[in-house]
Amino acid sequence: MALNVVLAGPRGKMGTEAIKMITNEHLFTLVACIDRKNNGKTLNEINHICENNIPIYVDAKTCFEELKPDIFVDLTIPQIGFEHTKCALEHKIAAVVGTSGFSGEQIDELSILAEQNNTGCIIAPNFALGAVLMMLFSKMAAKYFPDVEIIEKHHDNKIDAPSGTAMKTIEMIKESRKSKTQGHPEEYESIQGSRGGNIDGIRVHSMRLPGLVAHQEVVFGSKSQLLTIKHDSFHRESFMDGLALAMNEVTKLNKLVYGLEQVMDLD
Ligand code: NAP
Repeated sequence: MALNVVLAGPRGKMGTEAIKMITNEHLFTLVACIDRKNNGKTLNEINHICENNIPIYVDAKTCFEELKPDIFVDLTIPQIGFEHTKCALEHKIAAVVGTSGFSGEQIDELSILAEQNNTGCIIAPNFALGAVLMMLFSKMAAKYFPDVEIIEKHHDNKIDAPSGTAMKTIEMIKESRKSKTQGHPEEYESIQGSRGGNIDGIRVHSMRLPGLVAHQEVVFGSKSQLLTIKHDSFHRESFMDGLALAMNEVTKLNKLVYGLEQVMDLD
């Protein structure tokens, strides 16, 4: 039987792509959307990619209580995505979060809530399967190449920096690399920020330009050699196989996991 899905952010670029995927995929049925505008309207009135009369709710609680969906998908902004996800878990609805920019405290709070409610939650900073592999390969490389900097490039409508993918990459690199200071011990910036952000000695540089979608290079330096691990998403459809995978796997979980690799078969 198909899983009933509620999606938040239906007018967004990711939301639009997700609606295409969900409505073309026989395993899922889109039963409603949550949108801060258009309460009481139907999806075909606001988003022409969908012909169905899917109802739109402004209030997540009302939506969850009336429809009791199997899965909630959030593709909005961190402030509102956090509230939606909390509400879903409190109603024992499995949640897949693509929205990036949640703080560590917010993830911890959702993790406790997921466990208390015996409900699955997947927070994935990047649904592109290639990007997940880039992060895993970076973790492997960091063991032998501890000097590393990250350049992440995104479209200029992105509000958070560094990207969730860069933060997650650093977290994974830290699992295999000892903390160290990089660069010249006396280096200084004549323009503030020129050396980028610094997490545990790892420099991260965020570029925001029109024309970009989501791109990242992880550059490892060693004696007379450089290793670059690079991934590009050229269109938001690149995220949809991973989103479908997360939606399939989340109903089998009873806790929160962070990162798509947690539900991928990597043996
Ligand atoms: P977008 O096109 O700007 O869409 C954002 C959506 O959120 C819009 O529908 C917007 O509605 C809605 N929204 C904004 N503020 C809101 C509020 N206060 N209350 C309710 N809804 C609100 O962005 P996008 O490119 O689709 O990205 C959406 C999210 O996914 C972002 O967090 C982005 O970083 C993340 N993302 C994740 C992945 C991944 O693989 N995990 C990939 C790409 C993007 P309005 O028009 O009313 O503002």
